Amino acid sequence: MGAINGKQFIERLNKLNSEIWYDGKMIEGKLSEHATFKGLIQSKATLYDLQGSQELKNKMTFLSPITGDSIGLSYLQPKTKEDLKSRRRMIEIWARSTCGMMGRSPDYMNTVIMSLASSAALLDGRENCFPEHILSLYELARENDLSFTHTFITPQVNRSQLFFELSKEPISAKIIDRNEQGLIIKGARLLATQGGITDEVLVYSAPGMLHSDDAFAFSIPSDTKGVKFICRESFVGGDSTFNHPLSSRFEEMDSMIVFDHVLVPWNRVFFYDNLEAARDFILQSSFHQQAIHQVLTRQIVKTEFILGVAELLVETINISEYHHIQEKLSEMIIGLETMKALLEKAEHDAEVDEWGYMRPSYLPLQVASTIFPKIYPRFCEIIQLISASGIVTLPTENDFASEIRGDLDQYLQAASMNAEERVKIFRLAWDLTMSSFGTRQTQYERYFFGDPIRLSSNLYKNYSKDKYVALVSKFINLN
Ligand SMILES: Cc1cc2nc3c(=O)[nH]c(=O)nc-3n(C[C@H](O)[C@H](O)[C@H](O)COP(=O)(O)OP(=O)(O)OC[C@H]3O[C@@H](n4cnc5c(N)ncnc54)[C@H](O)[C@@H]3O)c2cc1C
Repeated sequence: MGAINGKQFIERLNKLNSEIWYDGKMIEGKLSEHATFKGLIQSKATLYDLQGSQELKNKMTFLSPITGDSIGLSYLQPKTKEDLKSRRRMIEIWARSTCGMMGRSPDYMNTVIMSLASSAALLDGRENCFPEHILSLYELARENDLSFTHTFITPQVNRSQLFFELSKEPISAKIIDRNEQGLIIKGARLLATQGGITDEVLVYSAPGMLHSDDAFAFSIPSDTKGVKFICRESFVGGDSTFNHPLSSRFEEMDSMIVFDHVLVPWNRVFFYDNLEAARDFILQSSFHQQAIHQVLTRQIVKTEFILGVAELLVETINISEYHHIQEKLSEMIIGLETMKALLEKAEHDAEVDEWGYMRPSYLPLQVASTIFPKIYPRFCEIIQLISASGIVTLPTENDFASEIRGDLDQYLQAASMNAEERVKIFRLAWDLTMSSFGTRQTQYERYFFGDPIRLSSNLYKNYSKDKYVALVSKFINLN
């Protein structure tokens, strides 16, 4: 089969029979026609179509080592720096198509699956570990262009370091039985972006678990019996791309996943009951390096888009002469160029790992993933500050089609644009930074890769500081 197109993606998704709960009801009928999902599904279909476009095919796909079919390039296991750059160019094309707003365009999870397969040997010969199952899942996903969501966070019940879950009925998803057929899982995992609207769900535990019942990893089809996706309220403002330019296209939905005595067949289990393997799987595999390489590429495209929005706002109402406006936009430029330099460095310093795959250098990626959660909310604040009242003076598409159009044309005209164009750009600024869609984007960029506080803390703890201490010690003659 190889790389799918948009039509194949939609047909496969509509056939998937996942149990998705939205606003008190179980969703029935075609997902691609549901008001909450149709915009996103259409945008994803566009991404899949790009893979087959004659113009882009060489940049978007590579040839299957098994069938010779074209395969989505985010599944490519990089062996050279040129492979890494090819991956980046493919990621950029998809990110541009979504203005960087789709955190879970399929390349994110394809990259995760690729990285786990590339490090599967880490589990060779270890107790209760099945590296061959990771490799076969990777092959299945690569050859059929499967899409994934993942979930690894326990329910947010009690985050004290002294808390240990003792409830009779599991809260956090755990192994409650092991039988001839596989593992039985019961409990919940906190969050899965696009949960229910991907072919598969990858489940694993974040490092730090203390009990072997929590130490597992597996991937199962989203419509596996007993798996339930509970969605939050939708942030789609409506169908109109004039009124809701971003949420009508890119609202991804987040859901909690409940596992009710779910049987995970052995051939889908990567490991179980092995705390050390669970920790190493996340920390020593190339998961972080390859995933952040994808993330940083998307975030750069998103920052370019935001800078474009900011400059359009400035030009629209002609405020570029003010120094504080220049300073605010230069903050965005500095953020953008810093992120680009970090990506360049991560690729430049990449090295082949012990299993023969090219890993981007981790340090620049770690730095980038601690910077972006801080600068992204600031970019949104800058958009609001330069917009002032414009970002709330937002007549709708219907207003422009009504008899008050004359008033709108007269009083909402701008220095360099007519009223309708001016409102379009301000509506975009609002959807980007102030609508429920926009504020969720901010929360996403802060948290989706983990708590930024703990990411910074890890950076501090693992950074080699000794040589700098030695320099200072020598300067002032300390022993
Ligand atoms: C929009 C969005 C989409 C997401 N999508 C996914 C997804 O698809 N799949 C997935 O698995 N996860 C997803 N996540 C979850 C994400 O991984 C978590 O939000 C992140 O790891 C933080 O965990 P938490 O939300 O449980 O926060 P908590 O750990 O509950 O933290 C709450 C607060 O307490 C502080 N805190 C808690 N414990 C400590 C500690 N030990 N030390 C210092 N401070 C502490 C934190 O700094 C924070 O301020 C998503 C999150 C968001 C917001």
